[in-house]
Amino acid sequence: MEFLGNAERGMKKEYLSNNTVDFSDGVVIDRLREPPLYAAVRKQVEACLSIAESRFGRRFPRPEIRFDLRGRSAGQARVALGRHAQPPVLRFNAILLKENVDDFLREVPAHETAHLVIGVMYGRSVKPHGREWQAVMKEVFNIEPRVTHRMAVNSGTRRRFEYRCGCNGESHFLSTVRHNRIMAKTTQYRCRRCGDTLFFVCDNV
Ligand SMILES: [Zn+2]
Ligand SMILES: [Zn+2]
Repeated sequence: MEFLGNAERGMKKEYLSNNTVDFSDGVVIDRLREPPLYAAVRKQVEACLSIAESRFGRRFPRPEIRFDLRGRSAGQARVALGRHAQPPVLRFNAILLKENVDDFLREVPAHETAHLVIGVMYGRSVKPHGREWQAVMKEVFNIEPRVTHRMAVNSGTRRRFEYRCGCNGESHFLSTVRHNRIMAKTTQYRCRRCGDTLFFVCDNV
């Protein structure tokens, strides 16, 4: 019997044992227990906004931050100003984050925050990845302004198998490797919180 997460490294273990993201509709259902990686993204966004504020001598609105982006995109910024103004929203890909922690944290929060900064300062008058955006990345955040990321997209979109435990409404998303171990009856995984053996629901994500 192997407990879920025992073989994992630091961050990943935390994530698996605190899976509070409902991937079925992409909503963070319990922010108090959100994975530490999400907090790390929020921290990066806030750090970038502070740097931009001292550089440009003005305030920028704090965005709503979601972790509901899927597929190949690592992040997305929505900044709507003017007549149809809405609070800015930054969306991040939770799976790419989890599987490319260092690359993701170094680049993606800054990339999306730069869109927010440029959107607030210039509106729609400049290109999304134009000179102004590149200058914020390079000169303000000190990050190479790349438009496409080099993270392992295939692994980000690979199959995930949904398992449940005794916790109400909680899901655990297991890799193919783990799922196959369970199917072959060589390993069982337990939820660290309730101690129940995980049972298979369906493959998705
Ligand atoms: Zn972009
Ligand atoms: Zn549980």
